[in-house]
Amino acid sequence: MRVLPLILCALLASPLAAATPPRLVEPALRLPAGPPGQVRVALTFDACEGVTDPRILDALIAHDIPATVFVTGRWLARNAEAFARMRARPDLFEIEDHGARHLPAVDFPTLVYGIKAAGSPGAVVQEVSGGAAAITAAGGPAPHWFRGATAKYDTSSIAEINGLGLQVAGYSLSGDGGATFSRAKTARQIATARDGDVILSHINQPRRPAGAGVVDGILQLQARGVTFVRLQDAFGPGDATGRAALPTRPF
Ligand SMILES: [Zn+2]
Repeated sequence: MRVLPLILCALLASPLAAATPPRLVEPALRLPAGPPGQVRVALTFDACEGVTDPRILDALIAHDIPATVFVTGRWLARNAEAFARMRARPDLFEIEDHGARHLPAVDFPTLVYGIKAAGSPGAVVQEVSGGAAAITAAGGPAPHWFRGATAKYDTSSIAEINGLGLQVAGYSLSGDGGATFSRAKTARQIATARDGDVILSHINQPRRPAGAGVVDGILQLQARGVTFVRLQDAFGPGDATGRAALPTRPF
């Protein structure tokens, strides 16, 4: 006779449970400590889709500034020349995975900033491995890091990404506010970087003012004597296991 209340409880609870989707998380990432006295900062760029910002690419090459660039399959399909320039300077550019189609790597159906998420574990795997395959098909090395569109995940999708041998690349400082900041605000923001910061900016918005501010801010850091490192320099290739910070900022 105690079964009925249990069933009733289950019936009452299930719609509630279904209405509460898993929380999205946005992992942070900072660099491990470097040599004493050195101020180290990682510049990371997302090449989401569209075209390339020549202001940033030219400045990085002209000033010999290393960076980690997260590219999508979509961006690669349209930017062979820019990718060739990056590939020609393996001393400067580390290429990593930003996904096949620029879908948020979230394994349940939802919208993140209005962008439809991959939506299932299989679709997350497709987004992640499709991005990696696009890089190697274009002649790049197999990636070690993944950053999904919008940089938001859920805990099970992070496990799926790790299961593919990739670490989730969080960040500690948004350089350009998703390429929405003004030139001056972007420059000020990037110039605030401190030792260990991983800065996220965009290299695919040539018509927005933020890109000019990215260059201004980077040159200010360089003038201050900051050492720029790539993720593979700071963590070692394939040696990032367990070093990426745990998700800290619920969405
Ligand atoms: Zn993106």
